[in-house]
Amino acid sequence: MDAEQHTLENPFSMDPDCENCPGLCDVRENVVHGYGDVGGEFVFVAERPSSGADENGIPFTGDEEGERLQRILGDLGFSRSDPDSDEPDLQNVFLTYLTRCRHPERRPTDEEILTCEPYLNAEIRMINPEIIVPIGQRTLEALAIDYTTRAPDSFDVTEEHATTIRGRGFELVPMLELDEQTDDDTEAFVEHLRESVFGRDYRQTKGRRGR
Ligand code: SF4
Repeated sequence: MDAEQHTLENPFSMDPDCENCPGLCDVRENVVHGYGDVGGEFVFVAERPSSGADENGIPFTGDEEGERLQRILGDLGFSRSDPDSDEPDLQNVFLTYLTRCRHPERRPTDEEILTCEPYLNAEIRMINPEIIVPIGQRTLEALAIDYTTRAPDSFDVTEEHATTIRGRGFELVPMLELDEQTDDDTEAFVEHLRESVFGRDYRQTKGRRGR
């Protein structure tokens, strides 16, 4: 991460006590804002924190889902930590959510996703990544509205897992939900990134500083 960046956890100092969603404030353990390298070229976005992340306050940690993603990040060279680390040492990648508060018994409502959207939009605007990885169908559809010209209902994450979709300003590389992936699905994603993304010049003309 940049010399000027002092923490990977919630580096944009977003409200750690946000109470904008009445149905989530009393049942969450933590508001899990984004985590990672603010100069990252890659941003991974899931629908909501898993139970481990809700407990720890750090995205994609504390349970099997988190470990699967951290293993992927390690395989791709984005993480220098063990997959079960509670504070992964990440570079060139940022991890975040559509909604930062977890209800233990249900997924977020459309209204909660809309209410939380300004946090995600601000992170993406400030990071200005090259590649966004939407995890799961709902995240893919939500990002498709903002970053592609296709109709959101034309996307199917099962079909588009581990493929590249050209977008407006960013490319999307969708991923199946972590708890729905087989090891073969995970390997296909890693191979796609290695061969079809890292293997070409994926950088768009954004005036980024060199790495
Ligand atoms: S989900 Fe987002 S907007 Fe809603 S309370 Fe949590 S941080 Fe705030």
